[in-house]
Formats: sequence, structure tokens, C-alpha cells
Amino acid sequence: MQTSEIPAGVINKINQICKRFIWSGSNENRRMSLIGWDKVCQPKIYGGLGLKNLGMMNKALMMKLAWGLVYEPMSLWCRVLYTKYGVADSDFPLGLPTRSGSYLWKSIGKVWSDTLKGLRWNIGNGRRVRFWLDCWVTKHKPLSSYALAPIPVESLMNLVVDFVDTNGNWHWDSFEHLLPNCIILRIAAVQPPMEGKGDDKFFWANSQWGDFSVKSAYMAITENETGIEHSQWNIAWKWKGLPRVQTFIWLALHDRLKTKAEIGRRHIHIDWTCDHCGVASETTLHVLRDRFMARMLWNQLLPIAIWRLWFWRNQYQFNKVSTDSLRMAQDVLIRAKEITSSNKSGLNGPTRKVEKWIGWQPPVWPLCKLNSDGACRRNGGSFAGGILRNSNGDWVSGFAMNIGYCSITVAELWGVYQGLVMAWDHGIRWFLVEVDSQCIVQMLNNLEEMTNEYSSLVSSIKELIHRN
Ligand SMILES: [Zn+2]
Repeated sequence: MQTSEIPAGVINKINQICKRFIWSGSNENRRMSLIGWDKVCQPKIYGGLGLKNLGMMNKALMMKLAWGLVYEPMSLWCRVLYTKYGVADSDFPLGLPTRSGSYLWKSIGKVWSDTLKGLRWNIGNGRRVRFWLDCWVTKHKPLSSYALAPIPVESLMNLVVDFVDTNGNWHWDSFEHLLPNCIILRIAAVQPPMEGKGDDKFFWANSQWGDFSVKSAYMAITENETGIEHSQWNIAWKWKGLPRVQTFIWLALHDRLKTKAEIGRRHIHIDWTCDHCGVASETTLHVLRDRFMARMLWNQLLPIAIWRLWFWRNQYQFNKVSTDSLRMAQDVLIRAKEITSSNKSGLNGPTRKVEKWIGWQPPVWPLCKLNSDGACRRNGGSFAGGILRNSNGDWVSGFAMNIGYCSITVAELWGVYQGLVMAWDHGIRWFLVEVDSQCIVQMLNNLEEMTNEYSSLVSSIKELIHRN
């Protein structure tokens, strides 16, 4: 891997074995790859597993050899290669004659241009670096790539030293109009070439201190393929616990759990509907957040977690007791357990529900029954309605009215009032009134005289009730 390019077929084969191991646990079984191999090979902070892309790694290792040829051309192995293939070692070859030669030589030739891309120049006397065509101001890009207008052909090959005036300052007039201001400011920050400073020297642009490393080369050639750095991946990798859980969270964050929706998305014929509710598609969010079971869990755990966070805040505030995440998690679990068991044993108040069937019951003869109700729309319109039925359950009369703009309580009171007026008009004197608002019942049963927004309707209703 370090001395020659590995054939693509071999790399694919190795990748395949790795893939099977990751997704199936062995080379024999075949299971669905849930996340693409390119993604898996990205660093963890970009959402991958931090595995190395073998092809790229091979390339980075080959670049190390190429860098050696560029950086130490006088070392023995370089001189042997240069002499064998007829390259003058004092030169700085922009391309290697690799049409013929050993496999090693050809392998180096393939990464040569990528290696040269990582070069950046430090200006000494300015007699080696081309002003427009070499990288000396910014990383990876020569000044020609920033030009705002065509560069005069006669100056294209000029050296950096050609752009300095007789006083040793930058000769701004010769290039200022051709470059954007941000680049001009960068050039201003570079010391102009001086005779006494020695030769221009190059360094490896991809590391902070200018020295070549395989790691920095790998990062440089995979830079464009990585995604966006995002702290969400820390949820998986910074969590201290079972690796199995970490991997699960990683999959969930990628939205690649084997839900029905995910399986369906892979063109496998399947009904996407959630078995539990039978309504929604079974997506990751549905299973982990929206499904009834998930909501139950979050509703149970979240208030306890918030409550304990406040407790631990106070512990620190008043007793200077601090804690770690593991202990807090244990604490929340213990409280959750306590609360669950106390709920079960009924210590936490009356939690047992008694189911009761309710429905309309006919009144006893000769009574009639008035059922009334009021309602408000969100935009403010309010309505009331009511029906009057006899002891056989037969319809006697009914009404529906548009009240205008009022509160729900007023609408309910209007329902009762209008129902009573209707009953009176029908000559019915013996009846029961049923409403679904306890507050209305309390107001009407209250004997004390009160003054509020309901007073006039309440007194009108009471007047009707007691009318002979
Ligand atoms: Zn569901």
C-alpha cells in the first residue's frame, strides 16, 4: 500500500469484506447496507464512522513518495529514480514522464499533480516563483484564478521579483486593477522579495507547520467529499455507554433505522402504515417521537428530568455539590421507578379510573327534558341550541340561535334561557334541564345575588324557573 498503487478491483474487494463485516458481522451473511460506504468512510464529526477510504489512503501514501521526490531530490533514492527515467534532478518537474517505467514510477506519476497542488511558496528573492501561476498568496490557488480581467500574455510567466519597484516595494500599478480587494490585502501582508533573503522555498500547504504528513494529505484529497461538520453527531459518539447503543443513535440520526418507511423507500414492496396506530407511516420520527408509546415515555421522563435538573442546580447553588451526567441519569431513573411504583400501589392519590357509561335518559312522566348547549368558534362567533323531549323520548321542540360574540359560559347561559322560553311558549311547566357545564349548574343553584357579566342572564333564567 505504501509502495505502489493498489488496483481498483482489489480495493473494491477489501471494501466489500469490510462492508459485510460492518453490516452483517461476518463475510458470509449478506445484509442491507443502511448507510453508503462513502458516508461511513467520513470522519465522525461529519457523520461517518471515521474509517479510512482505502483508495484515498493508498493515494495519500503514494503522495508521500511523490513529496519525497519534490522535497529531497538530492537523496539517493530520488537521484536513482530521476536518473533512471531521465529527469534532471535540479529541475522542478511539473509532470513526470511516466508513459513507461516501473509500476512504482507510474503510481507516483498518477498522484504527481495532486502533490504539486499541495505546494505553497515562501518568497525569498522572488526569482523562482511565477507571480500569476504559482501558489504563494493563498492555499491551493494561484493568483491567476482570482483575476478580474484577462492577464496580459507578456506578463503571465513573470516572476514575483518582476512586480517590485526600484525601492523594493510592491509595484501596485502593475497588478492592482486585475485582482479583487481581498486578495490585494493579502498580498500587502506578504513581504516583497529581497535579494538577501535567499531562494524562494516551498512547503506543504495542508499542514500548519508546512511539513508533509500522510494524514494531512488524506484530509486534503478527501476534503471535497466530506459533508458538513455538525455537533449532532456528538450525541452518538460522546455518549458514554454501550457501543451498540451509540451505533443505534448514529443510525437514527441518519434516519436509517429499518422502519417500514425506510424499507419501502428501498423499493421493497411493503405497506408503510404503522401497525400500532394503523394511520401514520412508520418513519423514524413516528417510532421515536410521535407514536403513542414514544409519547408516553417522553411525557413520563421529561418532567422528572426537568425536576431533577432543578434539584441538582440547587444542590450546587446551596451545598456546592456537583454531579456528573451518569449520576444524574441514575437519579432520574430511580425517581421514575419510584413514581411508577407509587402510581401502581395508589399512593399517589386516586388514579384508578372507573368507567361509566353515560347516555340520554328519558324523564319520568309527566316531565319533559330540556338539553341545551353553547359553543364558540375560534374567530369569536357564538351559538346556542337546545331540544325538548318528553318522557317517551319524543321530540317536542328545538331551537338553534346565533348569539354574536361572547364567551362560552355566556353561550351556555343563552342556551338554557332560550330553552326555557321555548318550553314556556309550549305551555310546558314541568321539566328537567340538562347542561354539560358544571359552572352553569352552580351559578343557577346559587341563591346568593351576584354581580358579574353573567348576572342578567342568570337572573332572567331564575325568573323563568320560578314563574308560575
Ligand atoms: Zn403509529
